[in-house]
This record gives sequence, structure tokens and C-alpha cells, in this order.
Amino acid sequence: TVRFVDPKKHYQAHKKEYDAALEDVLLRGDLILRKDLEKFEKRFAAFVGTKYAIGVNSGFDALHLSLKAAGIGTQDEVITVAHTFVATIAAIVHTRANPILIDVGKDFNMDVEKLKAAITKKTKAIIPVHLNGRICDMEAIGQIAREHNLIVVEDAAQALGAAYTGKRAGAFGLTGCFSLYPFKILGAFGDGGMVTTNSKKMREMLRMLRDHGQDRAKGAVMLYGFNARLDNVQAAILNVKFNYYPSWIKRRREIAKLYYKKLRHIRNLALPHFEGKEYFDVYQNYVIRAERRDALKSYLTRKGIETLISWQKPVHHQKGLNLQHFRLPETVRLCREVLSLPLNTELTDEEIADVCAAIQNFYDTHKS
Ligand SMILES: *Cc1c(COP(=O)(O)O)cnc(C)c1O
Repeated sequence: TVRFVDPKKHYQAHKKEYDAALEDVLLRGDLILRKDLEKFEKRFAAFVGTKYAIGVNSGFDALHLSLKAAGIGTQDEVITVAHTFVATIAAIVHTRANPILIDVGKDFNMDVEKLKAAITKKTKAIIPVHLNGRICDMEAIGQIAREHNLIVVEDAAQALGAAYTGKRAGAFGLTGCFSLYPFKILGAFGDGGMVTTNSKKMREMLRMLRDHGQDRAKGAVMLYGFNARLDNVQAAILNVKFNYYPSWIKRRREIAKLYYKKLRHIRNLALPHFEGKEYFDVYQNYVIRAERRDALKSYLTRKGIETLISWQKPVHHQKGLNLQHFRLPETVRLCREVLSLPLNTELTDEEIADVCAAIQNFYDTHKS
């Protein structure tokens, strides 16, 4: 079988280092808001290219607390896309603001033309989602935001290390929001998240919001907060993983190139390689658009190849969410066509070749 992700194999490959880091932090008894977290935050901010980074409990918390800290609330409108993980939209709804969903373009990211049309007097913020490890058109989005005096909160949960004209995801907006969920490229052994910002005021707010509203230095409770800290044991693990991060991005880009080389002549597919040499993509996911997608997926499953569909059903068609009034044809079309191929740093070139051969074989033998 070719695994979509392989956490066990990953742990075995780095076991000595992870075990040593765990033993070290546990023997020190450093569990909450300790030096491993501070160190990780510093390294994270330096990597993204912002002054500050604030560790939180999840990507959802990063988004939710960013909006809270920026003062988003009742009556406000926040524009984002429907072609995202539901957490992006949930973060808006939990501030009591209204999510305004727009469609995406060929690169799966926010369609800037649709953005202009969606702005009203109530619009307060935009959340561009850098999907699959590719940055949105931040030049255009930044310009629109400045013209209309809107806050930009980046959903960079899938884009740590992705860049546009050399500037990294999370360094464009008022804040950048990252997920350290186990199956993100940089994943903890549990949940985790991070906010990046250049604003000292946002940093202070976020540090209080994640910690029950406390200002620990003052010994005071300043506001009603949440419990949304990134715990120190996870930070100790993440400090080990972060050493490898550049090499993991390199490998992911290699795998993406390999897929491109072996799949590009199959006319039933559209591959995720888009125009613009100023973009540096990290391939959180390798998402193809495929004719007869569901049959292809079943065929690959029978061949022992794990794939994933993100997302089978557009989020605005989920009945429980009250978003059915949006009309987003490109988002709907994508949900019928997308298929994520295995992409993890444990994969070998041979396994990639097997995946490609199986896809080729499907289209050779299943002529429509
Ligand atoms: C993973 C993800 C999130 C949520 O992150 P969690 O850590 O799971 O809360 C938000 N947005 C996008 C685009 C994601 O991929």
C-alpha cells in the first residue's frame, strides 16, 4: 500500500530525537508557557519574517483569537472563501460576525474579482486562505484591503513556508494563522497552532486571549479570555521538527515535480502547477482535478493507494451551517473533481511512480 500519511513510519525514523526531547522537557517539568514554547515562537516568527509569534491550541484558535483581538464582532462582515476547511468560517461565526463566502479561481484560491464585488459598508475583514501550500494573490488583496480600510487575517494553515515575491505566508496580513495539526506539514503530536504578527498590540491581546484573559506579568485578569495555549511539551517536539522543515519542503516540491513529470500528458487530469514564477508553493496537498474522479479514487483504493477528497461536499451545502444562500459554481465544480494524491516525506520515488502508473492505467483501460 501507498499511505496518504504515515505517522508511525515518521516517528520510527526520528524516534531517538523525539524521545530525547520528550524526556528532557518532562524531566524539567516544563509543561505550560515555558521556555520551549518561547523558543519555538521566536524561531517561528523569524522563519515567517514577522516580529512576533504567539502559540495557540489550534489553527481554529489562531483564526478565532485573531478576529477577536482585531475587534471583529456583531454586525461585521468578514469575507472568505467556501473552498476551505470549515474552521475558517467557524472562526468568523463564533465572533458573531457574518461570513460572506466568495468563489475561487483556477488555483483553488480566492478570486480577487469576486472579492471587490462582495465588499459592503459592513465589511471589516478579509480572510484569504492559502490553500494546498500556495499563497493567494496578496498584492491584489492587499491593495483592495488598503483602499477599503479592511483588516487582513491570513489563513495560512496549509502554507507555512510558502512565499510570494520572497515574502512568506503569515507576513502579509495583520496576523497570519497557522495550524500545527498532526497532518499539516509541520504537525505536533496532537493539536497546535500559531499566530504571527508585526503588531505589538495584537501580540499583547493574543497572549491574554489564549490564557484566560490574564496578563501574568501584571498579575491581573484584563478581559474574558479563552484557554487556547500551545502546550510546552508539543513545543519541545515542534522544536525538533522545525530543524527538518526546510528539507521537508524541499522533498515535497521534489515529489510534486515528479508527479508533474509523470502525469502531465494524461489529458483527463488538470495538475496543480500554476502560473507565476514569483510564487513558491510548499504543497501541503497535491490536488489534481480528475475526470471520473470517484471511479478513479475507487480504482486506486483497490490498488492499495490511499487518496483523499477535500472536500466531497461544498461547505455552503452543509445543511447545519446556514450558508445555503451562497451561489459558488467554481467551488461546487471543484468538489466534484478534486483528488489529493499521497504526498508525505516518507514516500519513495518508486511509490510515486506506482501511483502515477496506476492513474495512467485507469485512464488507458477505462475509456469513457
Ligand atoms: C487545518 C486547517 C484549519 C484548522 O486548523 P486546526 O488546527 O485543525 O484547528 C483552518 N484552515 C485551513 C485551511 C486548514 O487547512
